[in-house]
Amino acid sequence: METSVTLERALALTRSLNLPRQTEITPLSQLSGRILATPLSSKVDDPAFDNSAMDGWAVRAQDCTSEDTTLKIVGTSRAGGEQLPHVSTGQASRIMTGAPIPPGADAIVMVEDSDQEGELVKILGPARPGYIRKQGENLQKGQEILPTGTLIGPAELSLIATMGHHEAETLCKPTVAVISTGDELVQPGTNLSPGQIYESNSYGIASLVEKMGAIAKRYDVVHDNLEGLRTALNEAAESCDAILTSGGVSMGEWDLVRRLMEDEGQPLFWKVRIRPGGPPLCGSWKDTPLFGLPGNPVSSHVVFISIVAPWLAECMGANHELGPSLADRVTVKLSEDIKGAPKKLCMRRIRIEAGEGGLVATTHTHQGSGNIHSMVAHNGLTLLPPDTDGRAGETVDALWLR
Ligand code: AMP
Ligand code: MG
Repeated sequence: METSVTLERALALTRSLNLPRQTEITPLSQLSGRILATPLSSKVDDPAFDNSAMDGWAVRAQDCTSEDTTLKIVGTSRAGGEQLPHVSTGQASRIMTGAPIPPGADAIVMVEDSDQEGELVKILGPARPGYIRKQGENLQKGQEILPTGTLIGPAELSLIATMGHHEAETLCKPTVAVISTGDELVQPGTNLSPGQIYESNSYGIASLVEKMGAIAKRYDVVHDNLEGLRTALNEAAESCDAILTSGGVSMGEWDLVRRLMEDEGQPLFWKVRIRPGGPPLCGSWKDTPLFGLPGNPVSSHVVFISIVAPWLAECMGANHELGPSLADRVTVKLSEDIKGAPKKLCMRRIRIEAGEGGLVATTHTHQGSGNIHSMVAHNGLTLLPPDTDGRAGETVDALWLR
């Protein structure tokens, strides 16, 4: 087991842990948030036929070169398509947005640029060939559009439907166990006895798992005894693809996740040189990948975002640029001094906002790793290199949380 590794080393070590990659056919209506297991090609040309980008008149451009043009109305072209009129010299067909271009016509005049008088229409503006959307100008039949590994969001979903697919092959969602440990933890909604606190990590962590597009299975709190913890880990290894624990990974005598993993698991690394989130543990339990997140609430979120999420995205089959991610790397200008950390990458909570010259970062709450409110009051994390303070006015790297 390696100890006190850099974040880069931690991420490299996680790559030896894998999740099963099964695929399934998912219907169109349930594709949102899923990852493509095969590339998707268009089944049709888009547009399927030449059509109008405007409500107006389908005309012959050469009829409309003079200031004073009047054309005879010969019919209508609607979206949805009945018989189309033929447009000959001196004629125009009424046309709706999306409707097919009648034979003979080669340009569109916007309805705003016309004046209809009975059977005749006066043309008051330009006749534009550019208002015709050409067949296949967006997508061509057979063209590969979406690569394997694409995370399907709202726009991808509309595109998939446009391409004519009613289903797609996707990667199965992994199931991730979320297990909080600690004798002091009780459920919200009950009364606290002295020394007790409300268990909060499993809810936030499960939500992060689901935000990544995986399935979270929350467990009841496991108390600080080896027997109970071993049972819970065994059950999780049987029924889940990966295990996340919270708490019990520090130096203390009751930090049993670390002890049990050291004695009976296969630990890969323990402690990462980041602040907050120093003592995470990673390895496998009964061949199931396990991440031991620190119990401090901010630390558990930060470790998930910086270590678990990139690993999970990769394992879920996501394409690097197109897959799920909880954060974007950006540069921000600090509007105040921010303290770094000795020998550790420092991830202070910041609020990132658009300023005049770019993104600006401010801080708003106490930065302690126990203060989960700091993850709500802020939307970003600094990436201050070890032994480096940030000074007001300086530009630094940061993660902008989604
Ligand atoms: P530990 O890592 O177990 O030493 O816990 C570190 C700190 O985080 C302690 O103050 C714990 O009470 C707190 N903590 C641990 N687990 C949770 C949890 N599931 N929800 C909220 N706080 C927790
Ligand atoms: Mg504990």
